[in-house]
Amino acid sequence: VATAAAAVTELVGDQASGWDRAGQLPEDVVRKLGAAGQLTAQIPARYGGPGWSSTDSGEFTAHVGSLCSSLRSVMTSQGMAAWTVERLGDPEQAAELLPRLTSGDTAAVAFSEPQAGSDLSAVATTVTVDGDTLSLTGRKKWVTAAEYADLFLVVARMGEDGAVVVVPRNAPGVQMRPVADPLGCRAAGHAEVLLDDVRLPLSSLLGGGRQPLSMLVTTALAYGRISVAWGCVGILRACVTAAVGHARSREQFGQPLGRHQLVARHLADLWTAEQVATRACEYASRCWDENAPDLFTAVVLAKYVSAGHAAKGAAAAVQVLASAGAQDGHLVARAYRDAKLMEIIEGSNEMCQLMLADHALSRR
Ligand code: FAD
Repeated sequence: VATAAAAVTELVGDQASGWDRAGQLPEDVVRKLGAAGQLTAQIPARYGGPGWSSTDSGEFTAHVGSLCSSLRSVMTSQGMAAWTVERLGDPEQAAELLPRLTSGDTAAVAFSEPQAGSDLSAVATTVTVDGDTLSLTGRKKWVTAAEYADLFLVVARMGEDGAVVVVPRNAPGVQMRPVADPLGCRAAGHAEVLLDDVRLPLSSLLGGGRQPLSMLVTTALAYGRISVAWGCVGILRACVTAAVGHARSREQFGQPLGRHQLVARHLADLWTAEQVATRACEYASRCWDENAPDLFTAVVLAKYVSAGHAAKGAAAAVQVLASAGAQDGHLVARAYRDAKLMEIIEGSNEMCQLMLADHALSRR
């Protein structure tokens, strides 16, 4: 993990702010990480992946998140796609798709639609079967990494049930419209994906399709949530470093900022946020690695805690740096914008609260 982290540090260098402002990652950076299997760190060696534990993969994700949340977002999408194939695909699909995803091909996962945001039971994209082909029609929005993706995993309705359809980006009937000027993660390649009677072989249905929609969504999102949670740990670590460095070096009223108690309180809260988020993620990853019964709740908890702390922590970091950080191009300004989005995606704060409340209510 340490070697991979050092390689990413070198690959990203000081370019993350430039990528953010340009709204684009260099494609060779994405391909290079993909080809090294580092966008799919938990995929086992038999499919060409590194086969890391969730804990190791999480620490690596946090490292990437500390450098560039856009790149981390692409990593989350790719990891979620690979996990979904591993989990839901039949052995032939896993044998065909996973080696592609661990060797440079890229993928994005499309759930959300204009009328289906938090409520994914409202998904209207529909797959119908016509002889030995399927037809897919619908409209997906805010698909992270869509601009870099060779494949889309599209969550659709199939009769009374659901299905995940593997759609090549260049299939006839697929169109993309990039999301203009996102608040944060600006280089993550978000796009709307329009599907107009996309015709594909039936083998494009992961596991044959006709699975409960809620099960499909929960399966894919579990990976997305833990990955985003670790990415938030990375945002917090970068903010701690920036805020502490500034509070040590800048003086006002004859002493370093960090010696003023109200600034010190920001630092204490920020460091606490990073520690609490890390512990929540470590626990969730341990549950993941042990397939513990508490896994679902631990992952939602980690996502909720880490996203909330990252949003508050990044705001505190901007406050400590004040004018020195209040500019596009500064790490804490980018963290502030990126962290806010983490409270929306993969189950918003409110959705997480509802799930955690359900858990609390169901306990004796
Ligand atoms: P809505 O569902 O309309 O919710 C609006 C507000 O109401 C939120 O605060 C929500 O929490 C609250 N709310 C809704 N229902 C309830 C309720 N019952 N109780 C309490 N509060 C409620 N989608 C994909 O499919 N793939 C991706 O890769 C992807 N990446 C994304 C990346 C970014 C940066 C963003 C911003 C979005 C992305 N999305 C993606 C979409 C994302 O999953 C949705 O934005 C998210 O699920 C929330 O849906 P919504 O925006 O439609 O908000």
